[in-house]
Amino acid sequence: DNFIGWRGLSSDVTASFLNTRHIEHLANFDPLTGLANRYHFNQAIVRFCEQKTPFTLVLLDLDNFKYVNDTFGHAEGDQLLQKVANRMQQSIADSDLLCRLGGDEFAIISHQLDHIENTCKRLLVELRLPIELANVNIEVSASIGISQYPKDAVNDKELLKKADIAMYNAKSSATDSILLFSAEMERRNYERSEMVLQLRKAIQEKELSLVYQPQISVKTQKIVGFEALMRWNNNAMGNVSPETFIPLAEESGLIVDMGYWALETACNQALLWGEDIPVSVNVSGLQLLSAGFEKRVISILRITGLSPPRLHLEVTESSIVSKIEQANLILTRLQAIGVKISLDDFGTGFSSLSYLQKLSIDTLKIDRSFIQGLDKQDELESSIAIIDIIFKLAEVLSLKVMVEGVESEFHLQQLVALGCENIQGYLFSPPINEASVKQYIQQFIYVN
Ligand code: C2E
Ligand code: CA
Ligand code: CA
Repeated sequence: DNFIGWRGLSSDVTASFLNTRHIEHLANFDPLTGLANRYHFNQAIVRFCEQKTPFTLVLLDLDNFKYVNDTFGHAEGDQLLQKVANRMQQSIADSDLLCRLGGDEFAIISHQLDHIENTCKRLLVELRLPIELANVNIEVSASIGISQYPKDAVNDKELLKKADIAMYNAKSSATDSILLFSAEMERRNYERSEMVLQLRKAIQEKELSLVYQPQISVKTQKIVGFEALMRWNNNAMGNVSPETFIPLAEESGLIVDMGYWALETACNQALLWGEDIPVSVNVSGLQLLSAGFEKRVISILRITGLSPPRLHLEVTESSIVSKIEQANLILTRLQAIGVKISLDDFGTGFSSLSYLQKLSIDTLKIDRSFIQGLDKQDELESSIAIIDIIFKLAEVLSLKVMVEGVESEFHLQQLVALGCENIQGYLFSPPINEASVKQYIQQFIYVN
């Protein structure tokens, strides 16, 4: 029973050690870029909050990364992310932690406080330098949102939420913007999401309505159409301007259902006018490109009984520019059954001219900004020249033209001198409610 010594035993644990390390690495780092991943990021931010020393959280999201992926393919998209990650790593301090949260979203946790905006600015400049992908040089821009511990929040979730709010606001302003979180921002954000909640119920609660603005031919002195424009009267908020709720509806995707509601309502109401006057309905690109659009339009026409040539769809170029071929196919098929297509806000998007040849449309609607230019001394001449050129172009392409936003006799004079025929604007009438349309038509016929 005496202790006589130790017996040694050894084994080679290299493999299992490396394995564990590899697994740890996989769990903590992003395999594509080698940066810390979301898990690592979450752990780090909790730890930083516990240490109770001030720090900054930066969220960075690339602009138009989806476009790169769609155009060049996923392999090139991956390459771009790697190059971006590399550049970012080189532009930040060694003590800063750079993470890839997923997709094209990155984050930096930094102990820099006052100078962080400058660092971010430098980072964006660095990202802007061309990156070569498939023999094409690409410029990368990004949006940045920033929150700080403990100024903006004292726990990880809140801090992240606030950086996210700042980032969302940066995304919706210019490209390459850097925004620090503010309480004002949060309030606006809250109002916006509250409004989306309300908007979600608007159709059901019967809060939406359509008003109609007459379109007049100055040559024949006849009404050539009415444009249906959506109005929203909310129980709590009252009348909300379309300039506010239409963009929200677009962002949240609600515009698709709202658009169908408008289409159906406009077709039904136009049948009550007693005259064969066309009705123009605005269609968002999102709705046009959503599955089954064409079928749905045909079915609405069939159910309501409106004859297809009385339905004009107004589409803005900018809303379909990303999928112009697909959109054109749908438009062509609708034209084949008699529906007319107008290109709305013409002249405000870029590359308008090249699309004119590709798109099958019937009418160009000249944007009201050109008409507003007639009132400005220094823009008068150029506005006349632009309007004139659009008329000539339309003539060659056999398109009709509708001029929007005609507000004064002076506008009218100028336009008539250029040979303009169709006009829409406050000079003739603001949009009127549905109940007044019939009367407006009768009066108009009587006076003329
Ligand atoms: P839009 O399609 O360019 O519609 C013309 C806008 O100009 C209307 O604004 C109209 O009230 C206004 N307007 C008409 N005449 C004049 C004028 O002489 N002077 C000035 N300054 N403005 C004039 P509204 O009703 O506020 O609509 C704003 C925008 O909201 C529309 O611009 C359209 O893009 C969108 N929208 C409205 N209803 C719908 C809809 O049912 N569906 C979709 N997708 N968008 C809609
Ligand atoms: Ca329109
Ligand atoms: Ca317009």
